[in-house]
Amino acid sequence: MKVEHSEEKYFDPDWHRPDVIYGNNLVSRIVESGDTVAVATMEIPWNLVKDRFPVKPETVVFVQNMELETLKTQEKNVPPVSVVVGLGGGSSHDLAKYLALKKKARLVQVPTILSADASVTSAIGIREKGKVKYIAHVNADRILVDFSLIRQAPKELVRYGAGDILSSHTAIYDWKLASSRGKERFEQRYYDEARRILSNLERKQLEIREVTDEGIRTIVELYLGYAEIAEKLGSDRAQEGSEHFFAYNVEHVTNKQYVHGKLLAIGIMIMSYLQNNDFEKTLGLTSSLGFETNLTTIGLGKQDFSRVLKTLRSFVEEGGYYYSTINETDFDTATVEKLYETLCKNDH
Ligand SMILES: [Zn+2]
Repeated sequence: MKVEHSEEKYFDPDWHRPDVIYGNNLVSRIVESGDTVAVATMEIPWNLVKDRFPVKPETVVFVQNMELETLKTQEKNVPPVSVVVGLGGGSSHDLAKYLALKKKARLVQVPTILSADASVTSAIGIREKGKVKYIAHVNADRILVDFSLIRQAPKELVRYGAGDILSSHTAIYDWKLASSRGKERFEQRYYDEARRILSNLERKQLEIREVTDEGIRTIVELYLGYAEIAEKLGSDRAQEGSEHFFAYNVEHVTNKQYVHGKLLAIGIMIMSYLQNNDFEKTLGLTSSLGFETNLTTIGLGKQDFSRVLKTLRSFVEEGGYYYSTINETDFDTATVEKLYETLCKNDH
Protein backbone atom coordinates (compact mmCIF):
# COMPACT_ATOMS: atom_id res chain seq x y z
CA MET A 1 0.00 0.00 0.00
CA LYS A 2 0.96 3.61 -0.47
CA VAL A 3 2.43 5.20 2.62
CA GLU A 4 0.61 8.48 3.26
CA HIS A 5 2.46 10.17 6.07
CA SER A 6 2.92 13.92 6.06
CA GLU A 7 5.05 16.38 7.98
CA GLU A 8 3.05 19.35 6.73
CA LYS A 9 -0.28 18.54 8.33
CA TYR A 10 -1.47 16.66 11.34
CA PHE A 11 -4.91 15.73 10.10
CA ASP A 12 -6.35 14.56 6.80
CA PRO A 13 -9.93 15.17 5.57
CA ASP A 14 -9.49 12.16 3.26
CA TRP A 15 -8.59 9.94 6.19
CA HIS A 16 -9.78 6.41 5.96
CA ARG A 17 -10.28 4.03 8.81
CA PRO A 18 -7.25 1.79 9.34
CA ASP A 19 -7.67 -1.94 9.07
CA VAL A 20 -8.57 -3.02 12.62
CA ILE A 21 -8.21 -6.68 13.48
CA TYR A 22 -9.80 -8.00 16.67
CA GLY A 23 -9.13 -11.43 18.11
CA ASN A 24 -7.02 -13.61 20.34
CA ASN A 25 -3.40 -14.70 19.86
CA LEU A 26 -2.70 -12.29 17.01
CA VAL A 27 1.02 -11.84 17.72
CA SER A 28 2.05 -14.06 14.79
CA ARG A 29 0.08 -11.76 12.47
CA ILE A 30 1.75 -8.50 13.45
CA VAL A 31 4.05 -8.59 10.41
CA GLU A 32 4.71 -10.96 7.55
CA SER A 33 7.89 -12.81 6.70
CA GLY A 34 9.85 -10.66 4.29
CA ASP A 35 9.02 -7.46 6.18
CA THR A 36 11.95 -5.57 7.64
CA VAL A 37 10.80 -4.34 10.98
CA ALA A 38 11.57 -1.81 13.68
CA VAL A 39 9.67 -2.17 16.94
CA ALA A 40 8.89 0.83 19.15
CA THR A 41 8.05 -0.40 22.60
CA MET A 42 8.82 -0.55 26.32
CA GLU A 43 10.34 -3.26 28.48
CA ILE A 44 7.12 -4.84 29.79
CA PRO A 45 5.14 -5.18 26.54
CA TRP A 46 8.21 -6.33 24.61
CA ASN A 47 8.87 -9.11 27.10
CA LEU A 48 5.28 -10.29 26.63
CA VAL A 49 5.67 -10.95 22.90
CA LYS A 50 9.35 -11.13 21.95
CA ASP A 51 9.49 -14.94 21.98
CA ARG A 52 6.46 -15.18 19.69
CA PHE A 53 7.32 -12.29 17.38
CA PRO A 54 7.03 -13.52 13.77
CA VAL A 55 10.32 -12.08 12.43
CA LYS A 56 13.60 -10.95 13.91
CA PRO A 57 13.34 -7.15 14.05
CA GLU A 58 16.17 -5.05 12.61
CA THR A 59 15.98 -3.03 15.78
CA VAL A 60 13.93 -2.63 18.94
CA VAL A 61 13.67 0.98 20.11
CA PHE A 62 12.63 1.61 23.69
CA VAL A 63 10.71 4.70 24.75
CA GLN A 64 12.88 7.11 26.73
CA ASN A 65 10.76 10.25 26.77
CA MET A 66 8.68 12.09 24.18
CA GLU A 67 10.91 15.15 23.80
CA LEU A 68 11.49 15.89 20.12
CA GLU A 69 15.28 15.97 20.62
CA THR A 70 15.24 12.45 22.03
CA LEU A 71 13.07 11.18 19.15
CA LYS A 72 15.44 12.68 16.59
CA THR A 73 18.45 10.98 18.18
CA GLN A 74 16.66 7.63 18.39
CA GLU A 75 15.52 7.81 14.77
CA LYS A 76 19.07 8.26 13.51
CA ASN A 77 20.01 4.84 14.84
CA VAL A 78 17.18 3.02 13.06
CA PRO A 79 18.12 1.39 9.72
CA PRO A 80 15.72 1.56 6.74
CA VAL A 81 12.72 -0.70 7.40
CA SER A 82 9.44 -1.48 5.63
CA VAL A 83 7.30 -1.64 8.78
CA VAL A 84 7.35 0.06 12.16
CA VAL A 85 5.41 -1.69 14.92
CA GLY A 86 4.22 0.29 17.92
CA LEU A 87 3.76 -2.18 20.74
CA GLY A 88 2.59 -1.05 24.17
CA GLY A 89 0.79 2.09 25.35
CA GLY A 90 0.54 5.69 24.20
CA SER A 91 4.25 6.55 24.20
CA SER A 92 5.17 3.44 22.20
CA HIS A 93 2.52 4.35 19.63
CA ASP A 94 3.69 7.94 19.34
CA LEU A 95 7.32 6.82 19.02
CA ALA A 96 6.25 4.32 16.34
CA LYS A 97 4.45 7.08 14.42
CA TYR A 98 7.55 9.23 14.50
CA LEU A 99 9.77 6.42 13.23
CA ALA A 100 7.26 5.41 10.52
CA LEU A 101 7.10 9.03 9.37
CA LYS A 102 10.86 9.38 9.11
CA LYS A 103 11.46 5.95 7.58
CA LYS A 104 8.45 6.24 5.22
CA ALA A 105 7.42 2.84 6.54
CA ARG A 106 4.06 1.21 7.06
CA LEU A 107 2.74 1.54 10.58
CA VAL A 108 1.22 -1.30 12.59
CA GLN A 109 -0.07 -0.43 16.05
CA VAL A 110 -0.51 -3.14 18.68
CA PRO A 111 -1.94 -1.83 21.95
CA THR A 112 -1.14 -3.89 25.05
CA ILE A 113 -2.91 -1.38 27.28
CA LEU A 114 -5.41 1.35 26.38
CA SER A 115 -4.51 4.20 28.68
CA ALA A 116 -4.77 6.75 25.83
CA ASP A 117 -5.94 6.89 22.24
CA ALA A 118 -2.53 7.23 20.54
CA SER A 119 -2.80 3.79 18.90
CA VAL A 120 -5.68 5.05 16.78
CA THR A 121 -4.97 8.74 16.16
CA SER A 122 -2.78 9.97 13.33
CA ALA A 123 -1.16 13.01 14.97
CA ILE A 124 2.10 12.45 16.82
CA GLY A 125 1.97 13.78 20.37
CA ILE A 126 5.40 14.95 21.48
CA ARG A 127 6.81 17.19 24.15
CA GLU A 128 8.86 20.26 23.43
CA LYS A 129 10.50 21.63 26.55
CA GLY A 130 7.80 19.94 28.56
CA LYS A 131 4.82 21.21 26.56
CA VAL A 132 2.53 18.94 24.58
CA LYS A 133 2.59 19.49 20.83
CA TYR A 134 1.08 17.60 17.94
CA ILE A 135 3.13 17.18 14.81
CA ALA A 136 2.68 15.41 11.47
CA HIS A 137 0.03 13.08 10.14
CA VAL A 138 0.85 9.39 10.20
CA ASN A 139 -1.64 6.89 8.82
CA ALA A 140 -1.73 3.52 10.53
CA ASP A 141 -1.87 0.67 8.08
CA ARG A 142 -3.25 -1.74 10.61
CA ILE A 143 -4.25 -1.92 14.26
CA LEU A 144 -4.17 -5.30 15.93
CA VAL A 145 -6.39 -5.54 18.97
CA ASP A 146 -5.39 -8.77 20.67
CA PHE A 147 -7.80 -9.37 23.56
CA SER A 148 -5.63 -12.09 25.12
CA LEU A 149 -2.62 -9.76 25.11
CA ILE A 150 -4.49 -6.76 26.47
CA ARG A 151 -6.04 -8.84 29.22
CA GLN A 152 -2.57 -9.56 30.62
CA ALA A 153 -2.29 -5.90 31.59
CA PRO A 154 -3.61 -4.58 34.90
CA LYS A 155 -7.31 -3.89 34.28
CA GLU A 156 -7.06 -0.28 35.29
CA LEU A 157 -4.59 0.37 32.46
CA VAL A 158 -7.30 -0.66 30.04
CA ARG A 159 -10.45 0.80 31.54
CA TYR A 160 -8.82 4.20 32.06
CA GLY A 161 -8.53 4.30 28.30
CA ALA A 162 -12.15 5.41 28.35
CA GLY A 163 -10.91 8.68 29.86
CA ASP A 164 -10.03 9.80 26.34
CA ILE A 165 -13.68 9.29 25.41
CA LEU A 166 -15.30 10.77 28.50
CA SER A 167 -13.03 13.81 28.04
CA SER A 168 -15.39 14.77 25.25
CA HIS A 169 -18.04 15.65 27.84
CA THR A 170 -16.09 18.70 28.99
CA ALA A 171 -14.25 19.24 25.69
CA ILE A 172 -17.35 19.82 23.59
CA TYR A 173 -18.64 22.25 26.21
CA ASP A 174 -15.37 24.16 25.78
CA TRP A 175 -15.69 23.99 22.03
CA LYS A 176 -19.16 25.51 22.12
CA LEU A 177 -17.99 28.16 24.58
CA ALA A 178 -15.04 29.08 22.35
CA SER A 179 -17.27 29.38 19.31
CA SER A 180 -19.79 31.54 21.19
CA ARG A 181 -16.88 33.91 21.92
CA GLY A 182 -15.95 33.98 18.24
CA LYS A 183 -12.74 32.05 18.90
CA GLU A 184 -13.59 28.94 16.97
CA ARG A 185 -15.47 27.45 14.07
CA PHE A 186 -18.35 25.24 15.23
CA GLU A 187 -19.90 22.35 13.37
CA GLN A 188 -23.11 21.01 14.77
CA ARG A 189 -22.87 17.64 13.02
CA TYR A 190 -19.55 16.80 14.67
CA TYR A 191 -20.83 18.06 18.00
CA ASP A 192 -23.82 15.72 17.62
CA GLU A 193 -21.53 12.90 16.59
CA ALA A 194 -19.46 13.41 19.76
CA ARG A 195 -22.63 13.27 21.85
CA ARG A 196 -23.58 10.04 20.15
CA ILE A 197 -20.18 8.56 21.00
CA LEU A 198 -20.63 9.62 24.62
CA SER A 199 -23.96 7.86 24.84
CA ASN A 200 -22.36 4.70 23.46
CA LEU A 201 -19.81 4.96 26.24
CA GLU A 202 -22.62 5.17 28.76
CA ARG A 203 -24.31 2.10 27.33
CA LYS A 204 -21.15 0.02 27.60
CA GLN A 205 -19.88 1.33 30.95
CA LEU A 206 -20.02 -2.02 32.72
CA GLU A 207 -18.30 -3.91 29.90
CA ILE A 208 -15.52 -1.34 30.07
CA ARG A 209 -15.24 -1.54 33.84
CA GLU A 210 -14.94 -5.33 33.64
CA VAL A 211 -12.54 -5.14 30.67
CA THR A 212 -14.47 -7.72 28.65
CA ASP A 213 -13.73 -8.26 24.94
CA GLU A 214 -16.75 -6.08 24.22
CA GLY A 215 -15.43 -3.40 26.57
CA ILE A 216 -12.05 -3.38 24.82
CA ARG A 217 -13.67 -3.31 21.40
CA THR A 218 -15.94 -0.46 22.48
CA ILE A 219 -13.02 1.70 23.60
CA VAL A 220 -11.18 1.15 20.32
CA GLU A 221 -14.26 1.77 18.18
CA LEU A 222 -15.12 4.97 20.05
CA TYR A 223 -11.51 6.14 19.67
CA LEU A 224 -11.93 5.59 15.94
CA GLY A 225 -15.12 7.64 16.02
CA TYR A 226 -13.24 10.57 17.52
CA ALA A 227 -10.29 10.04 15.19
CA GLU A 228 -12.67 10.41 12.26
CA ILE A 229 -14.14 13.64 13.68
CA ALA A 230 -10.64 15.04 14.31
CA GLU A 231 -9.47 14.26 10.78
CA LYS A 232 -12.56 15.77 9.13
CA LEU A 233 -12.77 18.78 11.42
CA GLY A 234 -9.04 19.40 11.34
CA SER A 235 -8.88 19.64 15.11
CA ASP A 236 -9.38 17.39 18.11
CA ARG A 237 -11.56 19.91 19.89
CA ALA A 238 -14.37 17.39 20.21
CA GLN A 239 -12.20 15.29 22.47
CA GLU A 240 -9.57 17.56 23.98
CA GLY A 241 -10.31 20.59 26.10
CA SER A 242 -9.80 22.02 29.57
CA GLU A 243 -9.72 18.55 31.21
CA HIS A 244 -6.66 17.69 29.11
CA PHE A 245 -4.98 21.03 29.82
CA PHE A 246 -5.40 20.39 33.54
CA ALA A 247 -3.72 16.99 33.01
CA TYR A 248 -0.85 18.54 31.05
CA ASN A 249 -0.27 21.13 33.73
CA VAL A 250 -0.16 18.48 36.46
CA GLU A 251 2.63 16.80 34.50
CA HIS A 252 4.31 20.14 33.93
CA VAL A 253 4.16 21.28 37.56
CA THR A 254 5.08 17.98 39.19
CA ASN A 255 7.42 16.81 36.42
CA LYS A 256 6.08 13.27 36.83
CA GLN A 257 4.45 10.84 34.45
CA TYR A 258 0.96 9.54 35.07
CA VAL A 259 -1.59 7.17 33.61
CA HIS A 260 -3.26 9.56 31.17
CA GLY A 261 -6.82 8.47 32.00
CA LYS A 262 -6.29 8.91 35.73
CA LEU A 263 -5.40 12.57 35.30
CA LEU A 264 -8.24 13.02 32.84
CA ALA A 265 -10.78 11.57 35.27
CA ILE A 266 -9.89 14.30 37.76
CA GLY A 267 -9.68 16.99 35.08
CA ILE A 268 -13.13 16.01 33.81
CA MET A 269 -14.65 16.32 37.30
CA ILE A 270 -13.00 19.71 37.94
CA MET A 271 -14.12 21.13 34.61
CA SER A 272 -17.64 19.71 34.68
CA TYR A 273 -17.99 21.32 38.11
CA LEU A 274 -16.76 24.70 36.84
CA GLN A 275 -18.90 24.37 33.72
CA ASN A 276 -21.94 23.46 35.78
CA ASN A 277 -22.17 20.65 33.26
CA ASP A 278 -23.89 17.53 34.65
CA PHE A 279 -21.41 17.18 37.50
CA GLU A 280 -23.38 14.61 39.51
CA LYS A 281 -24.28 12.50 36.51
CA THR A 282 -20.67 12.52 35.31
CA LEU A 283 -19.46 11.57 38.75
CA GLY A 284 -21.82 8.60 38.67
CA LEU A 285 -20.55 7.57 35.26
CA THR A 286 -16.87 7.77 36.28
CA SER A 287 -17.69 5.61 39.26
CA SER A 288 -19.48 2.99 37.11
CA LEU A 289 -16.50 2.95 34.76
CA GLY A 290 -14.31 2.13 37.76
CA PHE A 291 -12.48 5.47 37.71
CA GLU A 292 -11.16 7.03 40.89
CA THR A 293 -11.68 10.76 41.05
CA ASN A 294 -10.05 11.70 44.32
CA LEU A 295 -6.67 13.38 44.40
CA THR A 296 -4.94 10.66 46.39
CA THR A 297 -5.25 8.39 43.32
CA ILE A 298 -2.64 10.48 41.57
CA GLY A 299 -0.72 11.32 44.72
CA LEU A 300 -1.41 15.02 44.39
CA GLY A 301 -1.26 16.86 47.71
CA LYS A 302 -3.14 20.04 48.45
CA GLN A 303 -0.14 22.26 47.85
CA ASP A 304 0.62 20.86 44.40
CA PHE A 305 -3.06 20.86 43.50
CA SER A 306 -3.22 24.52 44.36
CA ARG A 307 -0.09 25.26 42.32
CA VAL A 308 -1.51 23.40 39.31
CA LEU A 309 -4.75 25.39 39.37
CA LYS A 310 -3.20 28.75 40.10
CA THR A 311 -0.81 28.41 37.16
CA LEU A 312 -3.35 26.79 34.85
CA ARG A 313 -4.55 29.90 33.11
CA SER A 314 -1.10 31.20 32.29
CA PHE A 315 -0.10 27.66 31.27
CA VAL A 316 -2.86 27.51 28.62
CA GLU A 317 -2.44 31.10 27.50
CA GLU A 318 1.31 30.88 27.09
CA GLY A 319 1.15 27.38 25.64
CA GLY A 320 -1.38 28.46 23.01
CA TYR A 321 -3.92 25.80 23.94
CA TYR A 322 -7.53 26.06 22.76
CA TYR A 323 -9.79 28.65 24.33
CA SER A 324 -11.74 26.89 27.09
CA THR A 325 -13.39 27.14 30.49
CA ILE A 326 -9.94 27.83 31.93
CA ASN A 327 -9.71 31.18 30.12
CA GLU A 328 -12.85 32.30 31.89
CA THR A 329 -12.09 31.04 35.38
CA ASP A 330 -10.39 32.97 38.14
CA PHE A 331 -8.52 30.31 40.10
CA ASP A 332 -8.40 32.32 43.29
CA THR A 333 -7.91 30.77 46.73
CA ALA A 334 -11.64 30.36 47.34
CA THR A 335 -12.18 28.53 44.03
CA VAL A 336 -9.19 26.26 44.60
CA GLU A 337 -10.42 25.49 48.11
CA LYS A 338 -13.90 24.69 46.83
CA LEU A 339 -12.54 22.34 44.14
CA TYR A 340 -10.25 20.63 46.61
CA GLU A 341 -13.14 19.95 48.97
CA THR A 342 -15.35 18.75 46.14
CA LEU A 343 -12.75 16.26 44.95
CA CYS A 344 -11.92 15.02 48.42
CA LYS A 345 -15.60 14.30 48.97
CA ASN A 346 -15.44 11.92 46.03
CA ASP A 347 -13.81 9.23 48.10
CA HIS A 348 -15.79 6.21 47.04
ZN1 LIG B 1 -5.92 12.31 25.70
